[in-house]
Amino acid sequence: MPFGLLKYGLNSEYPGTHHFNPTTELKKHYDVVIIGAGGHGTGIAYHLAKYHGITNVAVLEKNYLGSGNTARNTAVIRSNYLTEEGVTFYRESVKLWQDLSNEFNYNVMMESRGQLTLAHSDAAIRSFRWRAEVNQHMGVRSELIDRQQIAEMIPNLNMSEDARFPIMAGLWHADGATARHDAVAWGYAKGACKRGVELHQLTEVQDIEVTSGKVTAVKTNRGRIECGCVVQAVAGASSIVAKMAGIPLPIHSYPLQAMVTQPYKPVFTPHVSSPHLHVYTHQTSRGEFVIGGGSDPYPLYNTRATLDQRETLTAAALELFPFLAQARMLRQWAGTTDMTPDYSPIMGLSPVDNYYLDAGWGTWGFKATPICGKTMAELVATGKVPEIIKPFELERFYKYQQINEAGATAASH
Ligand SMILES: Cc1cc2nc3c(=O)[nH]c(=O)nc-3n(C[C@H](O)[C@H](O)[C@H](O)COP(=O)(O)OP(=O)(O)OC[C@H]3O[C@@H](n4cnc5c(N)ncnc54)[C@H](O)[C@@H]3O)c2cc1C
Repeated sequence: MPFGLLKYGLNSEYPGTHHFNPTTELKKHYDVVIIGAGGHGTGIAYHLAKYHGITNVAVLEKNYLGSGNTARNTAVIRSNYLTEEGVTFYRESVKLWQDLSNEFNYNVMMESRGQLTLAHSDAAIRSFRWRAEVNQHMGVRSELIDRQQIAEMIPNLNMSEDARFPIMAGLWHADGATARHDAVAWGYAKGACKRGVELHQLTEVQDIEVTSGKVTAVKTNRGRIECGCVVQAVAGASSIVAKMAGIPLPIHSYPLQAMVTQPYKPVFTPHVSSPHLHVYTHQTSRGEFVIGGGSDPYPLYNTRATLDQRETLTAAALELFPFLAQARMLRQWAGTTDMTPDYSPIMGLSPVDNYYLDAGWGTWGFKATPICGKTMAELVATGKVPEIIKPFELERFYKYQQINEAGATAASH
């Protein structure tokens, strides 16, 4: 062991540099209380502090920073959705991702690797053509490619015409990327706390006080806090927390599982997904193959990993990449995903004054982290809903103005 490291470990005169100020006592009042310290909650806090000068902010987290879906996801970033509203929103997020490491001066390991979604039927080719048209119109790099182009791009892919579902074409999205998921929460939290925001871990919100239609306080396991406004950013617990404020959300929560192999030498770069087989995979910069798919088939608040899903994902992954039969599985895990009826988020105002929603992030919210931080902070600071998130208001479900992204979400992540 290097001498310097030993000296550092044993000597109290070499304290580690903390990324955050150690947790202090809770104050009696904050201008803004943010519930949930994932990428979204910390991103909102960061933007409030850095761009709006609002620092009397507490981020309350019942576990530890990034312990929710932020550190459980498979880190896919893309903007090739189907609706005008969806593509515009995610396109702006991808732009912010590209500069995030510079923004933080902290490496989030953003890798522009491209994303390939496979078509195994004529119907899929028709819908991919439609998506490519919409995407190109909105300035997103997306195109239909044929079998030969796919085989050249990913030589290890099983292109056999005798496969159960032969690959017929693909939707190539050059803007697709991945990033290191927990680094995002760390980067935002570090930047927010440096500017005076308080991050309180092990602090669970257990009730919310609403007086005359306006939020006035939250009750936690560490005491009651009065507040000017509240933002909930609790993916996986959105309905539970909103219910404390008396707000019903049209959400059902399902487990979503993923798994990862041991590291191997690099064999392919893009993220490859097959909505038909309900599986997707990419190789991380460490060499592991990350494998994921669709949500579990029943609503449940549980993050256990099941043998059932492991077998299903493995079988599907082997159909695409037979060489993975040689790979050894390292880990499998799950998160809870809040699914909305139209597979789009719920963002903005709520029926309770000064209570803001950043919810319904299902299987697609990691990629939205930077744009959520920016737009939700703008809403809190100005009281005006930014144009780009207006379509995602809760009211859309009562006005029949859903934004249907079901087809562009599936197992593409
Ligand atoms: C297996 C899996 C794969 C995924 N893959 C992708 C992907 O490839 N691309 C993509 O874009 N998205 C993906 N997602 C979805 C994505 O992970 C989430 O949408 C996103 O991380 C949500 O971030 P967040 O900050 O809103 O929530 P979280 O990171 O979940 O943070 C919410 C926090 O709130 C806390 N909390 C909850 N209740 C309370 C309370 N009462 N009081 C205080 N704190 C509370 C939780 O402990 C948690 O830390 C995936 C999800 C899973 C589970």
